Amino acid sequence: MTKKIAVLPGDGIGPEIVAQAVKVLDVLKADGLDIVMEEGAIGGAGYDAAGDPLPEATLKLARESDAVLLGAVGGPQYDKLDRPLRPERGLLRIRKELNLFANLRPALLYPELAEASSLKPEVVSGLDIMIVRELTGDVYFGQPRGIEVRATADGKTERVGFNTMIYAESEVRRVARVAFDIAMKRGKKLCSVEKANVLECSELWREVVLEVAKDYPEVELSHMYVDNAAMQLVKWPKQFDVIVTGNIFGDILSDQASMLSGSIGMLPSASLDEHNKGMYEPIHGSAPDIAGQDKANPLATILSVAMMLRYSFGDEANAQRVENAVKAVLAQGIRTVDIATAGCQIVSCSAMGDAVVAAMCG
Ligand code: NAD
Repeated sequence: MTKKIAVLPGDGIGPEIVAQAVKVLDVLKADGLDIVMEEGAIGGAGYDAAGDPLPEATLKLARESDAVLLGAVGGPQYDKLDRPLRPERGLLRIRKELNLFANLRPALLYPELAEASSLKPEVVSGLDIMIVRELTGDVYFGQPRGIEVRATADGKTERVGFNTMIYAESEVRRVARVAFDIAMKRGKKLCSVEKANVLECSELWREVVLEVAKDYPEVELSHMYVDNAAMQLVKWPKQFDVIVTGNIFGDILSDQASMLSGSIGMLPSASLDEHNKGMYEPIHGSAPDIAGQDKANPLATILSVAMMLRYSFGDEANAQRVENAVKAVLAQGIRTVDIATAGCQIVSCSAMGDAVVAAMCG
């Protein structure tokens, strides 16, 4: 069955990096991958085209597609718009509208780039962790929330800010399943991160993860408190294979883990719904400081295509073909400026795309 991909370049370097990922998809298509691609506007580009950071036509396209490939959104020219019209709102809305509850963020360090990390090369070289972060629940969405004036014990008043940390067991179960499924495709090790020693919400999280574990006897499950996980991630990150955690803990830990690799232009991400339909995007933003100069690193976006092939299309062979091409290019010493090391060959964004295509076809 033909798979439809919604291609949403967005703003800043978005169109430049997405063009390189489309080159890769074109090669796969020419070699038999049954896909069609259709472009839509999102973010500032959506606002410019239709007065909305998520135009109706783009949402319709995303809904009827099997996967979405996104560049990045945002730019200083949009910073003064009313909040609902800002580019980032388009991104938040599309994630919510498509019910993308599982956010997959690999922290991966190619040995060739080990010097780019702030940690010692032997600690991070060859690092390959997958963090599965729940994306649509937790303290970010829990009710009640707000800031209000309350009475104090001594008869005065003061302002109080509050949010609610809440997870329904169905929410935990579905993201745990995604994480166990991914662990099965990788090293069969899953670490569930929470704070069950203090929080009831985490206590339930742990109970549900243990229930789901019964369906995955091959996966070695461990539990870790979030404070310890933060420590272990910088102490010996290679002890982890797959980590599953809630929205707020995952927000912090996935940023921490991704920075172990020291190169923002290298890291892809996926956000999946219940049926493995997903949105795939680099973790970085629209980099307005280098937009239009053909010097952005397109590898995070190209690696997002590999994730799309693996997680939405179940096409492991083509996923590996793309990832192996990226590895080959790095091994040849070809670099965009953000990952440049001594003695390497510095190339433009489009030349990096061409190099990956050449490695795929070589
Ligand atoms: P950013 O990720 O865009 O840039 C941070 C730094 O990293 C910049 O120096 C940039 O040049 C560099 N960089 C980022 N991607 C790169 C790449 N592929 N190759 C080489 N260098 C790269 O973050 P920011 O500067 O904080 O934000 C810029 C805009 O992007 C803002 O409008 C922000 O809201 C938006 N943003 C969007 C997303 C998204 O679309 N998912 C994520 C984060 C930020």
